[in-house]
Amino acid sequence: EEPAPAPAGGAEKRQKKIAVLTSGGDSAGMNAAVRAVVRQAIARGCQAYIIREGWEGLVRGNTSEPTPAPTRPSSAVQSPVLGPTSNSKSVSFSSLPPSKQIELDAAAAAAALDADHVDLGNGVEYTSADEVAPLSDAPLSFGFGGLLRDGAGEGDLEEMAAHGMQNVVVADEVDEQGRSLKGRYIVRVGWDDVRGWLGEGGTLIGSSRCPSFRTREGRLQAAHNLIKYGIDCLAVCGGDGSLTGADKLRGEWPSLVEELYNEGKIDDAQKVAFGHLNIVGLVGSIDNDMSMTDLTIGALTALHRICESIDSISSTASSHSRAFVIEVMGRHCGWLALLAGIATGADFIFIPENPPATEDWETEMCDLLKSHRSVGKRKSIVIVAEGALDRNLKAIKPDYVKKILVDRLGLDTRVTTLGHTQRGGVPCAYDRILPTLQGVQAVQALLDATPETPSYMIGTQENKIIKVPLLEAVAQTQAVAAAIEHKDFAKAMSYRDSEFQEMLQAFNISSSLAISQHVPKDKRLRIGLIHVGAPAGGMNAATRQAVRFCHNRGHTPVAIYNGFEGLLDDNVAELSWLRVDTWTTRGGSELGTNRSLPSIDIGNVAAGFQRHGLDALLVVGGFEAFHSVLIMEQNRANYPSFQIPMIHLPATISNNVPLTDFSLGSDTSLNALVDACDAIKQSASASRNRVFVVETQGGMSGYIATMGALATGAVLVYTPEDGISLSVLQEDVEFLRKRYQLDVKGKSEGRLVIKSEKSSHIYTTEVLTKIFKEEGKELFDARSASLGHTLQGGVPSPLDRTRAARLSLRCMQFLEQHGTPNAQAAHKGKTRKYSTETATMIAIRGSKIVYATMDEVLKVTDMKLRRGKMEWWSDIKRLAEVMGGRSGLIASG
Ligand code: ATP
Repeated sequence: EEPAPAPAGGAEKRQKKIAVLTSGGDSAGMNAAVRAVVRQAIARGCQAYIIREGWEGLVRGNTSEPTPAPTRPSSAVQSPVLGPTSNSKSVSFSSLPPSKQIELDAAAAAAALDADHVDLGNGVEYTSADEVAPLSDAPLSFGFGGLLRDGAGEGDLEEMAAHGMQNVVVADEVDEQGRSLKGRYIVRVGWDDVRGWLGEGGTLIGSSRCPSFRTREGRLQAAHNLIKYGIDCLAVCGGDGSLTGADKLRGEWPSLVEELYNEGKIDDAQKVAFGHLNIVGLVGSIDNDMSMTDLTIGALTALHRICESIDSISSTASSHSRAFVIEVMGRHCGWLALLAGIATGADFIFIPENPPATEDWETEMCDLLKSHRSVGKRKSIVIVAEGALDRNLKAIKPDYVKKILVDRLGLDTRVTTLGHTQRGGVPCAYDRILPTLQGVQAVQALLDATPETPSYMIGTQENKIIKVPLLEAVAQTQAVAAAIEHKDFAKAMSYRDSEFQEMLQAFNISSSLAISQHVPKDKRLRIGLIHVGAPAGGMNAATRQAVRFCHNRGHTPVAIYNGFEGLLDDNVAELSWLRVDTWTTRGGSELGTNRSLPSIDIGNVAAGFQRHGLDALLVVGGFEAFHSVLIMEQNRANYPSFQIPMIHLPATISNNVPLTDFSLGSDTSLNALVDACDAIKQSASASRNRVFVVETQGGMSGYIATMGALATGAVLVYTPEDGISLSVLQEDVEFLRKRYQLDVKGKSEGRLVIKSEKSSHIYTTEVLTKIFKEEGKELFDARSASLGHTLQGGVPSPLDRTRAARLSLRCMQFLEQHGTPNAQAAHKGKTRKYSTETATMIAIRGSKIVYATMDEVLKVTDMKLRRGKMEWWSDIKRLAEVMGGRSGLIASG
């Protein structure tokens, strides 16, 4: 009735089978996770399966066998190639002209696999059923189809099978060969079946809620299906419910196997072979509601959709001086509401885990909005999480909030419920990168698993992919809901990560006009704010947060316009609370920025500090910003006015600031790259067989190119770090040839090659493109596109805006802690005690945020190449090559 669990004999017997499913609510990035699991599984020598429709598919299993492909309409059939019709028992391809590729059309493939005589027309002939049978790949759910090249022999078939190139698309009820998937939920997939999935929203393999999986009977059926297909490794991408189900299945597994055996459903060999089930969880959820991980797959894309909507609403709200109450998703988790509040500069937010401070929240909200209006703000934005509550657990609903604003403040108020627009759409860059990195780790966790290890969940902490015991994460997640139910909001907040808590603090500081948080008069500072280097997304958001911090604490924010040149021109002014209100959403640099260092006129720069009475300095910018702080620190002995605390907040699209894993602006830039590449890829695919060489900025750092390659599924990437050599180029051409030869004819995709502009001054983008064009011959064509300054991005991404707020808050706290009021006047001309600890850079390092001294930064800096000596992402280039297929095809010779 069903396929054999494992093929008889041969090495395949020990080949692991890894299946992946998506379950619960869909989220953007799930496809990237599935793609990563499938490709990494194949790259690691395993067989990959997808389970359609979540747990439901696993419970149902396959009720039908793969059907032969329907014969295509005659126009699609390339008759000279095909020879006999699909009913023939003997298939010959001898009519094929030599040197021309042989395409096995779906119909011909089906016929060939049924035939007992196959003549490939190139001297390779299979004359007996025994010889033909292995070709049909019988144990697989799908036989191979696709393309055989001229001169193809058994080795090539094996190679194809090894790469799983079967060209089966599982998105619809038919696969790419037109075979029905009806009644088929457990499907073996190959490398190309997940091609192009990075940019698709939702989940292409389907998801569902499955009541029967909650019962033992359902799970028994699921276990039976897994064993039937020989699958003992399962990656589950879903929310806490789905992952709880996964762990339950694993916990019960031995008893389920026993029961299946006793019922005679599995034999002795199966009982022994499948005594253990390996499970790994990937968290797909737009709410970001899972504990023990910073970010779930899909949450950031949802935040993108929310911010796009609120940004649009903000302009109309401002035009008409209206109030808007916006409901966003989040039943037990206020992450979306909180981060959207910061990213869009909202006035008030309601989140489940931290209700308004007082029972009379209506007055609290009205007072705050009134204070904003009183300083001249024309719009009011209130964000309400779906699960928002007051301190007595009474739900806070948008319509009631509106009523209050109308009745008490007389504001023209509208309600907007964003609903399902938040779920979907094209995944943002990070929701392609994160699930890819996590999917790779998930396969590793499955391969490492033993009966003794717990089931793991793959998560992320700042910039580190981590694995945590799945049950612990689920328990902590559920504990948040329980704490809220018990009105223990402090406990609920304590289960959220530190980022969440800092974001809440940043939001409260930025929206409050109260003076209750002011420090005593003799502790108040004049804090200089300056942008240095090229503009980058998030610079303005960081400055807004800094200004708001100053107003909240009683300090004076002093803007230095146009960098150090501006300081020399005395282009300096204090910034008001309202002036920076809309800066979260603005790209570029509102203060104005350039590459001049303080060394343009160090004495006068120092004099400028003195003239404007700066007690502390925040420098936002890229490599030059770091260099500026370094120069000032090195000149402290000569110029006492530099003996004030200064901190550099890295912001540059190139992400080439040493030591820190991320700079502000790099996410905006990656998103700009992904958007551009999606469009280019579409054009390249429309012309079927075109390679696009896309040139990126990035100076001597290949970060944008490398991460861009991972996010767009580029097949090749060139960076300044690795350079380009003739031998590599030769391999790359060979890879492209092989790749295009393996495509089903007429179904070739456009492919991307990403090249950082400074990868090589000999093999320029133009030269590369010409080489590919020349070598591609009739297989593929090549074109180039340069992204140039578009990579600075327009509107900053939500990640850059919120990261800016959080890091800026930390910077200001640092300056407040180390600053002395009236520093310039009190120490005029005198050298006073200062420590190297007070000239620092704030940096994201793995799972931590640190303050690094200039010495610490210098140690890891290549000043000549203007980048770090070691980069955390250096291995990612190799991963991009694995995911793009280069590694596999070149390694296989
Ligand atoms: P979302 O966060 O989008 O709600 P979720 O994974 O938490 O995603 P659920 O509806 O809770 O969504 O769970 C999805 C499926 O996982 C359920 O339909 C059910 O099949 C399975 N499941 C959930 N909880 C359990 C459980 N305790 N035991 C067994 N299976 C479960």
